Amino acid sequence: MKDLQPERLYQLFNRSKRNTENVIKAAPIGICITTPSGHFEMVNPAYCEFYGYQEEELLGQHFTLVVPLENRAHLSALHDDFMRGSRSQEIRQEWDVINKNGELCTIISEAARIEAEDGEPRKVTFIIDITQRKRLEERLKLANERLDHIAHHDELTGLLNRRAGLRRLDEEIKRCERYDSLFSIVIYDLDNFKSINDTYGHAIGDSVLQQTTTLVNEALRDTDLHARMGGEEFLIMMLGVNAEEAYQGMERIREMLAQTTFTDHQLTVTLSAGIASYVESSRTRLLECADNAMYQAKQTGRNRVVIGPLSM
Ligand code: GH3
Ligand code: MG
Ligand code: MG
Repeated sequence: MKDLQPERLYQLFNRSKRNTENVIKAAPIGICITTPSGHFEMVNPAYCEFYGYQEEELLGQHFTLVVPLENRAHLSALHDDFMRGSRSQEIRQEWDVINKNGELCTIISEAARIEAEDGEPRKVTFIIDITQRKRLEERLKLANERLDHIAHHDELTGLLNRRAGLRRLDEEIKRCERYDSLFSIVIYDLDNFKSINDTYGHAIGDSVLQQTTTLVNEALRDTDLHARMGGEEFLIMMLGVNAEEAYQGMERIREMLAQTTFTDHQLTVTLSAGIASYVESSRTRLLECADNAMYQAKQTGRNRVVIGPLSM
């Protein structure tokens, strides 16, 4: 270098400047340079292509042109801080941006502060389009949530399925053992349901099942859990509730159900229910107790609620 003539040095400098410009132009990622006030001073072709603007439409504009309205103030403030602050490198971060067509896209951006020829700082931002990846991730997340829902819920009624219901029951028993709290369970079964299917067909039977469980569900408290155990038999867990309170709640539901008509055929349906309260018992004993009480309700004429002996 020492021996180079000034003209040669100038030549080399110009060539290296041209090289740098060419690299920036050919870069597959979007690059822009903004002034301390946040206005575009340089945008490379990949940047323009990503946002759908011509170079001349961006130069001189404030960078928040590509930022959704609700984030503009926040991003402007970040830009000002970065220009003033001690950090010369911005953290790699994900942002929502908008292109010329007003479409929301997602980018990862990273920026560096450099000193320009005029001695003033500039911000060079590098952006990578991750819109497709983000959409795929969101679709995958939705699909997973849907699968998770299917795995734990009954398709016809939307209630917890048997497996999920029993798991919640186990969890509740554990909680009660630990905190000495109480809860009651109700097993209820629809009365003479077979005759609805036999008379009006399975599809009408399905509708009645759906509407019945919706009605019962709406009458329950938010803290109660409701699961379909199979067929037209259901489990309710009433948390923090003793047998007598569960009985009163279930009686109210039983009466309401008996007074409601379903489908265009104005069908009526009743339920028989058995109640058991948690008193240091195993899941099997608790279910057996409620089941026996429900059986007793059937035996003594149906359309009634019976409290099991364990709970007394
Ligand atoms: P009980 O009062 O003794 O409970 O009489 P029941 O007729 O309700 O009892 P049974 O066990 O004899 O019949 C249950 C009926 O419920 C028969 C079955 O076809 C019907 N069922 C069970 N699951 C479904 C379902 O998902 N859809 C429809 N439509 N019917 C169902
Ligand atoms: Mg039945
Ligand atoms: Mg049944």
